[in-house]
Amino acid sequence: MAVGETCSIRPLSEPLDSVSARWLELVRRLPPQVKLLAVSKGHCADSIRELVDLGQRDFGESRVQEALPKLEALADQGQMLRWHFVGGLQANKVRAVVKHFELIHSVASQALAERISRIAGEEKRCPSIFLQVKFREDPRKGGMTAEQIRELWPLLHDLPHLSVVGLMTMAPLGSSRDQCLEVFRDCRALADELSLPDCSMGMSGDWPEAVAAGGTWLRLGSSIFGEKS
Ligand SMILES: *Cc1c(COP(=O)(O)O)cnc(C)c1O
Repeated sequence: MAVGETCSIRPLSEPLDSVSARWLELVRRLPPQVKLLAVSKGHCADSIRELVDLGQRDFGESRVQEALPKLEALADQGQMLRWHFVGGLQANKVRAVVKHFELIHSVASQALAERISRIAGEEKRCPSIFLQVKFREDPRKGGMTAEQIRELWPLLHDLPHLSVVGLMTMAPLGSSRDQCLEVFRDCRALADELSLPDCSMGMSGDWPEAVAAGGTWLRLGSSIFGEKS
């Protein structure tokens, strides 16, 4: 090393842009009734472990193939971890998801809910699920309309081997802050109408609006883990 060159480019404390620092800052800002789901898709088991050490327990993944090796790598954490599935769920992946995930945020159709119920029965599991609702036309997103949910509610509510805990929604890409807020308020109102406690809404770009509208689960990826490497 040349004379005068410094070997310590990092401060002794956590750098401000570390996963831990971002998580701590978020947790400090969140109201107590809001739960934080760390969406770890695209990030490695070591980053997850770092957050487990700080007390984060809920982690979300959106692809089964990517998730299973991570779950395996973190199996030693046992009861410390609770896995949530948040991605588009294909019929042929339901068994793997039911076996490995405690909560499923992306139940976007009646057929999927019925399949989860049947397979959960076979696997002796009982996942908590969120019904995915599409409050605005958006060809890129799945989900049932509010009207469909109301119509199907008696049937969905009575499905065995699962527990409907809430609704999940996403604001269409390119929505303004006000538009996000409106979508999230619609979601909270429908959840209240059905006496469902939880609303899974709010991602890195719009979580303050979700909190303002009464969201209970924020699904945050990049604001915790940084942009994908
Ligand atoms: C990736 C993902 C998130 C997290 O998105 P960020 O914008 O990185 O916070 C939340 N929900 C779902 C369904 C996702 O696929």
